[in-house]
Amino acid sequence: MAVFKLENVEDLYEIGEVLGSGHFGQVREVRERASGARWAGKFLKIRRGAGSRLGMERKSVEREVEVLQALQHYNIMALRDVFESRAEIVLIVELISGGELFDFIAEKESLTETEAIEFLKQILQGVSYMHSKHIGHFDLKPENVMLLSNTLPNPDVKIIDFGMAHRFIQGEEYRSMGGTPQYIAPEVINYEPLGTAADMWSMGVITYILLSGLSPFQGYTDEETLRNVVGMVYEFDDQHFSQTSAMAKDFIQKLLVKDQKERMTAEDCLLHPWIKPLTRTQIAKRNRSSINMKNFKKFNAKRKWKMSYNMVSACNRLCRLQLHCKTSALQEQEMRQCESDQEDTETKPASLLRRRLSSSS
Ligand code: AMP
Repeated sequence: MAVFKLENVEDLYEIGEVLGSGHFGQVREVRERASGARWAGKFLKIRRGAGSRLGMERKSVEREVEVLQALQHYNIMALRDVFESRAEIVLIVELISGGELFDFIAEKESLTETEAIEFLKQILQGVSYMHSKHIGHFDLKPENVMLLSNTLPNPDVKIIDFGMAHRFIQGEEYRSMGGTPQYIAPEVINYEPLGTAADMWSMGVITYILLSGLSPFQGYTDEETLRNVVGMVYEFDDQHFSQTSAMAKDFIQKLLVKDQKERMTAEDCLLHPWIKPLTRTQIAKRNRSSINMKNFKKFNAKRKWKMSYNMVSACNRLCRLQLHCKTSALQEQEMRQCESDQEDTETKPASLLRRRLSSSS
């Protein structure tokens, strides 16, 4: 079992600016007092009692910590330390200061497939390592692919947020209730036993978006998106894929496969000719093809807008909750501090929607 230190984190680390917000707390920059080294601190609010709706279950944090402890790879965010107080658990992790990969790419004027593949290859190397340890991430999406720094022309990719990750135990079945509709695999929606192949579906979606600026299964509503995923409703329309190589489409087609067993693994992907070309012609085709930058920029701007909108509406929901519930002064304070104790519409609707889908079909 993971060991959490009981010392006060502030005795050892100076707490700095907020870097981002997750489901149950904030991520802040922290500076180690002894060495001056900079890290990130993930501050997670812990549920006080069985009846409380605020915060995360301790067991879930333990799971995330155990997963991170098992993973030491250059393309995966490293865990350094864990502290626990009465209401909070603090994960001290590697500071990843380059922002999201998609934001970095959206700043560019153009990008060839060869250049895009350099980033994809790094994600795949991280995923391949993770899967070799029998761990699935289950929430791979652009928000969870960051860059160590954005000052170099070829920055290092880091996969973050292992809050939904799962370590498979031989002989045990695992089904998941969560995910983000655009990126989740059909077997998640159908509540079937899962494997690491679910991450490979998400890799297919991420690659599709990266090349075209289109989200393959996106509908007007989450229900429609999930229906599109289950129905495998997607295409490579000429308008958005005119600059895309046939090899890239083949790569995506071998990931967006309904049968988990038929889907490429991360290892297969790293050997696919689009990622690892064997001939000069294949190299030339990748160099001649490029990502649809105009549409990608549009997709990314919309994605960022949606993220801010979700954050604002989550805050509004909290305020309404506060008005409805006659909470004690202490609980009110707790709610204000815990800005992301929200019913997260981005990552947790699958189970609810699945119920709605099955009752309406
Ligand atoms: P998470 O709860 O892990 O999804 O993190 C919430 C947000 O905090 C992310 O979307 C990032 O913007 C930021 N973040 C998470 N981990 C780090 C890190 N190690 N370094 C810098 N920022 C981070």
